[in-house]
Amino acid sequence: MTAIDMTPVSNCTVSACSFNDNGCHAFAVTVGEDASCATFIPLDVKGGISKVVTQVGACQRVACAFNKNLECTATQVRIGSGGTAADCLSYTE
Ligand code: SF4
Repeated sequence: MTAIDMTPVSNCTVSACSFNDNGCHAFAVTVGEDASCATFIPLDVKGGISKVVTQVGACQRVACAFNKNLECTATQVRIGSGGTAADCLSYTE
């Protein structure tokens, strides 16, 4: 897998996150062991890059059907409120 075909984050509805401005603007996010977005951070400052297409840089959720070698192979993922404030909603058993 190269940077060109990393999995894009198609949608993120976590408006409390510093990287969210009508969607995620982090260059890449990490998804944690429990499928929560480990990049989520609710600060008073805004972060990220306005024109970036956010990608899943790494995923620790090895139980997901899309996880291969700790990378995501889904076509795209959605992030939003789930078990925590920011979860990968595309997690599939
Ligand atoms: S779809 Fe699965 S492998 Fe991809 S980021 Fe979400 S939990 Fe990780």
